[in-house]
Amino acid sequence: MEKHILLIDDSPTMRLSVSFCLRNAGYKVTEATDGKDAFQKLQLLKDKDDSLALIITDINMPEMDGITFISKIKESELKFLPILVLTTEDEESMIGKGRAAGVSGWLLKPFQPEQLLWAVKKVMWSK
Ligand SMILES: [Mg+2]
Repeated sequence: MEKHILLIDDSPTMRLSVSFCLRNAGYKVTEATDGKDAFQKLQLLKDKDDSLALIITDINMPEMDGITFISKIKESELKFLPILVLTTEDEESMIGKGRAAGVSGWLLKPFQPEQLLWAVKKVMWSK
């Protein structure tokens, strides 16, 4: 069965290019527009008993930002799910916050498809 990834980004263009890349590589993708929307999507998936292999999230988003979202996930039953951050944020302090919150990987935009797919495999393997 194909691995299922939750992709969270407030940019429709970014969601389109990332999900295109992932679907082309054989992954199943559910999209969310920010952390708050992601929790709604997670509830729907739980209701359908549809389990995830990975979360890919942006950092800067309205409603609920990536760091807040990651912190909440790490306090939930999904705390062991690997999380890959895909962001323009390259400041050490922000990466440190992500690491402290428990992210598995940090990838910078703009990304090359092969970089993304490599990072996706890496964080799922190291789980
Ligand atoms: Mg954003």
